[in-house]
Amino acid sequence: MKIWFVTVFPEMIRAYLKESMFKKAVEQQLVSFQVWDLRDFTTDKHRQVDDKPFGGGAGMVLKPEPFFRAYDRLKEIQKENPFRVICPSPQGKLFNHRRAVELSRGADLVFFCGHYKGIDERVMQNLVDEEISIGDYVLTGGELPALVIADSIIRHIPGVLHSYESAETDSFADELLEGPIYTQPREYRGLNVPEVLLSGNHQKIEQWRKQQRLERTKERRKELLNEKIEKNDIGGKNG
Ligand code: SAM
Repeated sequence: MKIWFVTVFPEMIRAYLKESMFKKAVEQQLVSFQVWDLRDFTTDKHRQVDDKPFGGGAGMVLKPEPFFRAYDRLKEIQKENPFRVICPSPQGKLFNHRRAVELSRGADLVFFCGHYKGIDERVMQNLVDEEISIGDYVLTGGELPALVIADSIIRHIPGVLHSYESAETDSFADELLEGPIYTQPREYRGLNVPEVLLSGNHQKIEQWRKQQRLERTKERRKELLNEKIEKNDIGGKNG
């Protein structure tokens, strides 16, 4: 999969891509990332990417021309290869696990990162395929949301995670939250690991984990459990 980030702050993105799973995915040639500086698609000597809003008001708006030029360049590069333009936006549809899995199985992705007041609506209407929100709050720019979305997508590309089994038991994989997890030591400052996890009885451990997933989801995210019950899906792969 190829992923582009089109941004006014390319170093914010590059810093993150240099570490951890992103770095490994590139080394294994499972994903390639391109970070494009929006200013490289300007034509004036000041490389201006923003301007005041028509109609007045506070804040600057990212201009349409650099995005349209970046899009033209993408079309030249991709030729017949499809790509999907995503704009992180608080006005978009709320992102979730299901959408991450779907996008991991689809076309190459391009993130148009907004900043300041946002992006000229002509870009949103004519170039952007999908606006995605990462939550009901407003961030300063689209760089962090684009990285959040990309991170949750690429971990579903086969081979990216060292153990995909680990992702399959993470929260939301089966529409439930993951239960509590423990590691060494068995006892720390009088705090003990639940006996069942030390029992070596895998069937009992699985039963305990299933129970914990259900209880935790009921306690913290009851609506997830209700959806699962409605789908008559209790007793799936992990629960
Ligand atoms: N004026 C916009 C509004 O009220 O909807 C908010 C603009 S925000 C300050 C600047 C940029 O940050 C947005 O264009 C978007 O790319 C990004 N952004 C902010 N909050 C976000 C969120 N919750 N989810 C995804 N992107 C977000």
